[in-house]
Amino acid sequence: MAEYKTKEQKRKFYDSQHWKQLRVKVKQRDNYECQECKRKGRVTIDTNEYSESAKRKKIMLVVDHIKEIEDHPALAFDEDNLQTLCVNCHNKKHGRYVDYSLWQKSTKWNDEWW
Ligand SMILES: [Zn+2]
Ligand SMILES: [Zn+2]
Repeated sequence: MAEYKTKEQKRKFYDSQHWKQLRVKVKQRDNYECQECKRKGRVTIDTNEYSESAKRKKIMLVVDHIKEIEDHPALAFDEDNLQTLCVNCHNKKHGRYVDYSLWQKSTKWNDEWW
C-alpha cells in the first residue's frame, strides 16, 4: 500500500501521470465548477480553462481529496473521493491562507496544486 505521509511521497503522487489524468477527468465530471460554491448556490468556474480575457478573474480550481490521502491512502485515486473546488473553498477547507499573487510568481510546490 502506498503511503502519502511525507512531502516527498505527496509530491510524487501529485506529479504522477495517473493523478494528472484523473484530475482532468474529475474537473470535466464537475463541469469545471466548484462543488462547494455550488452547494451554496453559487457558480464558480475555472475561467482559466476558457478565454484569454477571462483570465483576469484568476479563478482557479483544484481537485481536492474529500478524505485526505495522508489518512486515507487507499482513496487517493478514488473518483468518489475527489471533488473540484475553487482555491477559496479549498483553502477554507484546509484552514490555510495563501497569497495567490505570490504563488503565481513562485514555482513553489503546493500539494494539490500544479
Ligand atoms: Zn468555491
Ligand atoms: Zn484538499
